[in-house]
Amino acid sequence: MRADVVGAGPAGLYTAYRLADAGISVSVYDQATRVGNKVCSGLLSSNTVKRFGLKRVARHSVDGARIHAGSEQILVRRRNVAYVFDRAELDGYLYDLALSSGANVFLGKRIGRVPKGDIIVGADGAGSFIRSACFKSNVRTVLGAIAYVRGTFDRYVDVYLDPKLAPEFFAWLIPRGEDEAEIGLALPPRMSASLLPRLSAFARKLGFNSYVLQGVRPIVVSPPLLRVVRGNCAIVGDAAAHVKATTGGGISYGLRAADVLSTAIVHGGLDQYQRWHRSWALPRLYVHYAARKWLNHVDAEHVLRVLRERGFEYSLSKSGDMDDPLFLFSPRYLGLISQIVSPFAYIRHKSPQNHLL
Ligand SMILES: Cc1cc2nc3c(=O)[nH]c(=O)nc-3n(C[C@H](O)[C@H](O)[C@H](O)COP(=O)(O)OP(=O)(O)OC[C@H]3O[C@@H](n4cnc5c(N)ncnc54)[C@H](O)[C@@H]3O)c2cc1C
Repeated sequence: MRADVVGAGPAGLYTAYRLADAGISVSVYDQATRVGNKVCSGLLSSNTVKRFGLKRVARHSVDGARIHAGSEQILVRRRNVAYVFDRAELDGYLYDLALSSGANVFLGKRIGRVPKGDIIVGADGAGSFIRSACFKSNVRTVLGAIAYVRGTFDRYVDVYLDPKLAPEFFAWLIPRGEDEAEIGLALPPRMSASLLPRLSAFARKLGFNSYVLQGVRPIVVSPPLLRVVRGNCAIVGDAAAHVKATTGGGISYGLRAADVLSTAIVHGGLDQYQRWHRSWALPRLYVHYAARKWLNHVDAEHVLRVLRERGFEYSLSKSGDMDDPLFLFSPRYLGLISQIVSPFAYIRHKSPQNHLL
């Protein structure tokens, strides 16, 4: 059997590694001439890092997140809850794994026709050619921009929910070490012209006079796709919208999907991958998407106030899971969720002086 994988990001490289390791002849094609040259924050939960044995390539660890909206703030903390990766190092590590297990990786090779292998894997990212050609479907994205800043930083990620600054998403600061951090924000594509001016205003507002722009790239924030298998073709990672629409994080679900997909191929049935997508991925992706839609309309300052007053910071610090939103459906959280989802939380209270822009 011969498998052709289009895309040498984490999803494609991990699929190729697992397939080659099981003795399947696999070729990976990527239009880029080097791996990991991607605009990405590289934040992964400690669960994902453990599951895929990635700790040796982690750059830095973080102990939680401060979420800001207007004058409200909540702090969710847990030691080493997540790790920050440099994408060149993470993808480079997965590339070495794929090569050492016997996969052929062809860089600088753009695929414009569906390859002829027995199995075709579309791991070609948000704008996937394989998805368009084999599934005729599309995914929705926002445009993210990131920049590096110097200073002194603690080990918390800052998330800014501010509809004036970043409608339909958020702005963030992620420490990459004690003296360097990444700032970023994302906007819907119709507002792309104001992305960099807003990033610059955000930097100034946080007190940074200079920053080093890393670039702009789409983040998948999409309703989930129902099908990820058609005939001998499967899509995985961003190509399959395996991304948490709440945060835009796609590496964790992409690696999980690659894991299941490669097992399905080795055991001769892509159906197994489609079944996993329906039973494991779809419920989680729907919850992330519904939460994203809700967050886009809700008065976040009011919601944070309710969460703080009800002791949510403590519960979330103790038992939250940044990858799996289904923990919210446990009895511990259902009462709280019903309160913050109540109609009064939808009324925006006007407090523009508290917003960053
Ligand atoms: C600003 C920003 C911040 C982010 N932060 C995080 C984060 O903190 N944590 C997280 O988990 N995720 C984050 N993400 C999302 C993350 O980057 C993606 O989910 C992840 O890269 C998806 O991996 P992938 O392997 O599916 O696709 P990609 O990494 O996009 O790889 C796809 C590959 O396919 C190649 N390709 C495309 N078309 C073709 C073609 N026709 N022929 C050949 N090759 C092709 C591309 O060159 C690319 O290398 C962020 C994204 C952005 C934009």
